[in-house]
Amino acid sequence: MDRSWITIDCRQIIDNYKKYKKSINQNTEIMAVVKANAYGHGAVKIADILQEEGVDNFAVATIDEAIELREAGIKGNIIILGYTPIDNVKDLIKYDIIQTIVSKEYAEKLSLISSKIKVQFAIDTGMNRIGLDADKVEECEKIIRYYNRKMILMGCFTHLCVADTNEKTASDFTKMQIDKFYKIISRIKDLELPYNHFLNSAGGLYYKEYESSLVRLGIVLYGLKPDYSNILPQGIKPALEWKSVISMVKKVYPGETIGYGRTYVVDHEMKVATVSTGYADGYNRLLSNKGYVLCLGKKARILGRICMDQFMIDVTDIFEAEEGTQVTLVGNDGTLSITADDMASWIGTIGYEIVCNISNRVKKYYI
Ligand SMILES: *Cc1c(COP(=O)(O)O)cnc(C)c1O
Repeated sequence: MDRSWITIDCRQIIDNYKKYKKSINQNTEIMAVVKANAYGHGAVKIADILQEEGVDNFAVATIDEAIELREAGIKGNIIILGYTPIDNVKDLIKYDIIQTIVSKEYAEKLSLISSKIKVQFAIDTGMNRIGLDADKVEECEKIIRYYNRKMILMGCFTHLCVADTNEKTASDFTKMQIDKFYKIISRIKDLELPYNHFLNSAGGLYYKEYESSLVRLGIVLYGLKPDYSNILPQGIKPALEWKSVISMVKKVYPGETIGYGRTYVVDHEMKVATVSTGYADGYNRLLSNKGYVLCLGKKARILGRICMDQFMIDVTDIFEAEEGTQVTLVGNDGTLSITADDMASWIGTIGYEIVCNISNRVKKYYI
């Protein structure tokens, strides 16, 4: 037995992919976003099972992530959605990786090194993160045409920043972003770039009627929600469960305190269990005195601060809890469940951060 581990249900990932694909426009392809080690699920394994299902577009955030996939035998397009320092260009070519162009200046530097680099232009339609400014339509067109001759241009994309809600002002903004993107694309139709795209998971939920050559599918692939309020297509479910184990139980009495900073003060006799997971495993320290875990089909609340490698829970009403008893940090136990999205909502973050932060010392098992 391990002290802290996750299990990832590969069939559920495939199911999520198929159900999502079915819910969108039939000629929209799926690009599996497997950056950040597939949102903590293990990039090589996830890319591999999706490749078997026919997925041939993958997205990562860094060149190391891209090389890892290639070396593991992933064959389709692999795009780096963010910045790659210029000294890595040789590897882009060697491993046949598509690089995002973040600015005109970056395009110039890349093109001076080699004409054999595959690239896609990021177009900024309102996020103000990376890309050419979509408001300067003529300049965008000029830059795209110029660098189309200098490198191997595979497409253009933009990123939607409020697609995760269909509330009116957000959807007005999203439609404006899509309009701006279309305006640029319509001026370079003759270049016949293979990929022009703007949908992320949320975009594909709410804006699937807009033509995008692919959906860059991240969070929903893993069965989580772009925003807590979203309703996912029927049958899409989390694929990851996170479990740990009790190392000891003890009784505590009124007046005692629990953990660092003595933030939990005991006011009645309680049975307390210590769980073998901590913030160094990625269990967020903001869960201190908040949140709960599941133990033998019941809720057990967190007492005191999360430590680096351990934390304490209240098992006063869980008589059978003892050394070696499993606890569920994320997942199902009997009729109860905790999703990464639930946990995120307790501490004011998003499910993405919960799963991405699960650290390497938490063992991964695939079922
Ligand atoms: C991470 C990322 C995505 C995936 O977003 P999800 O919300 O997880 O679907 C898509 N596009 C870009 C540019 C990204 O950086």
